[in-house]
Amino acid sequence: MNTQKSIEQIIAPPAPHMVGDGFRVHNFFPSSRTVGMQRMSPFFLMDYNSKIEFPATNTPRGVGVHPHRGFETVTIAYHGKVAHHDSAGNSGVIGEGDVQWMTAAAGILHKEYHEKEWSKKGGLFQMVQLWVNLPAKFKMSPPKYQGLESEQFGKFIIPNDMGVVEVIAGNFNGVKGAASTFTPIEMYNVRANKGAKIEFSLPQNYNTGFMVIEGSVELNDKVVLQDHFVLFANDGAVIQMKAMENAIVLILSGEPINESIVPYGPFVMNTKEEIMQAYEDLNNGKFGKLED
Ligand code: MN
Repeated sequence: MNTQKSIEQIIAPPAPHMVGDGFRVHNFFPSSRTVGMQRMSPFFLMDYNSKIEFPATNTPRGVGVHPHRGFETVTIAYHGKVAHHDSAGNSGVIGEGDVQWMTAAAGILHKEYHEKEWSKKGGLFQMVQLWVNLPAKFKMSPPKYQGLESEQFGKFIIPNDMGVVEVIAGNFNGVKGAASTFTPIEMYNVRANKGAKIEFSLPQNYNTGFMVIEGSVELNDKVVLQDHFVLFANDGAVIQMKAMENAIVLILSGEPINESIVPYGPFVMNTKEEIMQAYEDLNNGKFGKLED
């Protein structure tokens, strides 16, 4: 029987901090004590750059060359443009509605900057970056890059033309997602018109959270405002959504990876020894080369 998945917690945006000079982010987890690093597994980290205006500049803002190992970074752009380069030879620009799914796995160096031409004009900027953890058996897989443009997403039209559910990963009402994932993940962008009503059914054991990107929505009869994150309990499957105004909601739901997590800086591994190995490999040039 499909019972309601109840709201466990509604989290207001924590105080923002800068990542490099290009991303002003609210970290909803793991730094939130109530979510921590396991409660949303396989999602380990979520940095949310709420809407902010960046002034024009000839020197693009962003984050310089840095390593990652043991997980994937997923960047979802709502406003603005980001350029990416990595030591596996992949590069790309993501703009409004696009998603970049980078598998660091065994190890990668990358840099993330506002796109050059966009920087010259400046403007509104809004993004989400997720760190999606990998189970031990996939942590040392070869790096991979999926640049996903908004046209590639499977789209479910909300009845009566009340908006669209873009399926980034997983499967919604028979519409398949564009991204390939290592563990079962459902990830959707819901773009709902005011008054739209839509129902989601996500497995009870999947850890599930909704990030309200734009507008406000009613979830199981509770009003949730823009820039708030809703953590659901693992007590049922069904969630009702009603858009109070034109709204965008990012839906995250995934099967938990029940393994120990040892994070350190840019690495997310299972043991301390693996963290030490990561630093040794980094110092020995095993993450490749990338110009700053
Ligand atoms: Mn990074």
